[in-house]
Amino acid sequence: MAKETQGSLSVTERNSLLRTLETLGRETWFQQWKEHMAVPRSLNPHTKDKSEQEKILRYLLMRVLINQQASFEKVRQLSQRIAETYGDTLIYEPYNISEVNLFETFRESAGRKGSELYKVGALGGIKPLSLFAYRIKAYEGFVRQLEVEKKEFLDLALDRLKNNSGYSLFKFLSEHPVLECGWVGNDPKACRMLVDWIIFLCREIWGYELVRIEDTLMIVDGHVGKVFCRTGLLSEVLYENTRPYIIQASKMRSQIENMVRSSGAIPFYVDNGAFYLFEDGFCLDVGPRCEECPISKTCKKYIKWTAYQKMTREMETV
Ligand code: SF4
Repeated sequence: MAKETQGSLSVTERNSLLRTLETLGRETWFQQWKEHMAVPRSLNPHTKDKSEQEKILRYLLMRVLINQQASFEKVRQLSQRIAETYGDTLIYEPYNISEVNLFETFRESAGRKGSELYKVGALGGIKPLSLFAYRIKAYEGFVRQLEVEKKEFLDLALDRLKNNSGYSLFKFLSEHPVLECGWVGNDPKACRMLVDWIIFLCREIWGYELVRIEDTLMIVDGHVGKVFCRTGLLSEVLYENTRPYIIQASKMRSQIENMVRSSGAIPFYVDNGAFYLFEDGFCLDVGPRCEECPISKTCKKYIKWTAYQKMTREMETV
């Protein structure tokens, strides 16, 4: 792995920028959270009813499992379609859904081969449908386990959030003997995202007072990592040996998370704030719009760092 040191922001600038990202992330998230979660019309995310909350958490688990490596738009559409087609069977008895029907639902959203949802070019012959199948299987197995143990997902989550922290819930979900087969990677971003969504719903929407929004986790996908590198929040950047200057966000995640946590900013909102700089068309891999960017004044603009795009000499202006 290649490494490069660079001039970083001062502590005061860094803390101020993290607060700006937090504010930006919180404001945008509150406007867009239902759309991001793709809650189906059949579920009311504002409900105070525990059985309805249970349904929402189970739906979100299925949603984040199939979300991994998927096209944003398609996966939202597919998740809602599955929830609306199979209703409570998906929530309580997903193992009773016929594979023939479920795979047809998959094809209706993802195309005949599923390539509109998952791009599997680099995965040596694995089909999009196979990716979908093993993730759904993990969800099925988890729900069956809840039934066998006569437990509710919401109670399991609240126990961990009240007594410990977001990490405790993350550890439970990412290392769960059945769910483990559905996650991508050893530190799955999708699982971090689910933990953040659960904490957000429990604290900010459903009002469980013992849950703390400060216990959320940084997700740090490539675009968020890129903002931390470009702004100078990080003084040392790790990037791919063979494809300069594509950063290795997952390798910098714990450093980023420690920085955010020690600043006192709320990790989930900081993560969202950095991500929206990309999603709103400012911090693009190629041709970032620095002049219009809301953090332009503080940012060091080390724009050679990219999330996924190999930099050419013409693009490398800093
Ligand atoms: S768009 Fe430019 S100013 Fe904004 S975060 Fe990216 S590099 Fe910095």
